[in-house]
Amino acid sequence: MASNKNQIPRIPGVNTLSIHHGESFAKETGTVMPPIFTSSTFEHGNQQGFDYTRSGNPNFRILESVLASIENCKYATVFGSGVSAITAIASSLKSGDVVLCEENLYGCTVRLFEQVFKKFGVKTAWVDFTNPSALDEIKRKNPAMVWLESPTNPLLKVIDLKEICKRTSSLNIPVVVDNTFSTALIQLPLELGATLSLTSTTKYINGHSDALGGAVCTNDHKWEDRLKFAQKALGLQPSPFDCWLITRGVKTLSLRIKQQVSSAQALADQIADHPSVNWVRYPFRLDHPQKDIALRQMKSGGAIITASLKGDQIQTYSFCKSLKYFTMAESLGGIESLVCHPATMTHASIDPEIKKKLGINESLVRLSIGCEDLDDLSIDLHEAMNKLL
Ligand SMILES: *Cc1c(COP(=O)(O)O)cnc(C)c1O
Repeated sequence: MASNKNQIPRIPGVNTLSIHHGESFAKETGTVMPPIFTSSTFEHGNQQGFDYTRSGNPNFRILESVLASIENCKYATVFGSGVSAITAIASSLKSGDVVLCEENLYGCTVRLFEQVFKKFGVKTAWVDFTNPSALDEIKRKNPAMVWLESPTNPLLKVIDLKEICKRTSSLNIPVVVDNTFSTALIQLPLELGATLSLTSTTKYINGHSDALGGAVCTNDHKWEDRLKFAQKALGLQPSPFDCWLITRGVKTLSLRIKQQVSSAQALADQIADHPSVNWVRYPFRLDHPQKDIALRQMKSGGAIITASLKGDQIQTYSFCKSLKYFTMAESLGGIESLVCHPATMTHASIDPEIKKKLGINESLVRLSIGCEDLDDLSIDLHEAMNKLL
C-alpha cells in the first residue's frame, strides 16, 4: 500500500489491540508473554511508580492498557471482581444521594445497593428505562448517578443508552453502564455518552471460567482518580495471577465472540420455532421489542438467549438438567455453554413480587452460548425441548 505522510496514524483493529499491550515490564528478557509479578511490594522510587500491590502492579497495568485500548478510552481500572468494580463506583456516593437505577439490574448490584449502601444513607429509585417516561424521572429525581445495564439480565431488555446520556449530560449527572453482556466488542457505552463503562471481566473478557475480575473504563480523569483511590483504599484490587489469566483470555475475545454470536443467532431462531417454547428474547431478532435500538447501538445481538418454556418449575428444571453440553450453572460468557434457571438461581434473592413484576418466572431459562460446534448444541437443545412436548 502506498504511504502518504499526511495520513492520520492508523488505529489497529480490535484483534490486534486485544493481543498486543503497551508494556511487558520485562523488556530486557525478550519475553513474548508477560510474566506474573507476584511481588506485594516494590522498591521506593522505582521508575514505573509502583509501591505496593494493593495500589498497583505490573499485571494490573498490562490488563488496564489492553482494556482501555479495546474500549477506545483513556483510562481503565481493574478490580478483584465485577462486584468490587460496582463497590468502587458506589463508594464515591455520599449519604442522601439518590441513584436512579434500571429496574432490571444484575441481582448482586441490587443486593449491594439495598443491603449494604442503603445502611450508609445512599438511596435508590428504580425505573423501567425502556419506558419513555423514565426520561422525565431523571429531571424529577435529580439523582447523583444513573445506573444502567443493557441488554439486561435475564430478560435482555435493550435500553437506549444514547438517548438517556443526552438527557443526563445537560444535567451533569454521571451515567454508569454495566457492559458485561456485550463487552467493548459489541457495544461502546462511552461513545454513546456514558461516564463509566463497567465490566465483570469474569465473563466474556476472560472467557474461560477460571478467574474473577472487574474493570471500569472512563475518559474522565476525576473519575479515574476516584477509581484508583477505591482500588487501594477499599482493598478492591485483583490478584496479579488473575490479571495475568484475564490478559491471556482477552487475546481471543474477538475470535470467541464471533463464534458465540453466530451460534447464538442460529440457536435463537431454532428455539423460537419449537412448539414447546412460549417465546424467545434475543436482541437482533425481529420480534425483540427494542430491536431498532439494539441494531443502532450494538454490533451484534450477543451470545445470550432467554426463553420462556411451556413447562412448570419442575419441567423447566429437568429441561436444564437434561442438556448434555450446557452445564446448569450461574455465570456466562465462557467458551463452555451454560444454562441458568434465573428464578431459583441468579435471581433467587429477589423479592417474589418484584420478580413477578419484572417477568422472571419459573418457566424462564437463560442460555449462554459457548464455542462448541453449533450442530452439537443444536441437537442437544432440540432433544431437551422435545422432552417437554
Ligand atoms: C457477573 C456479573 C457481575 C458481577 O461480576 P462478578 O465478577 O461475578 O463479581 C456484574 N454485572 C453483570 C451484568 C454480571 O453478569
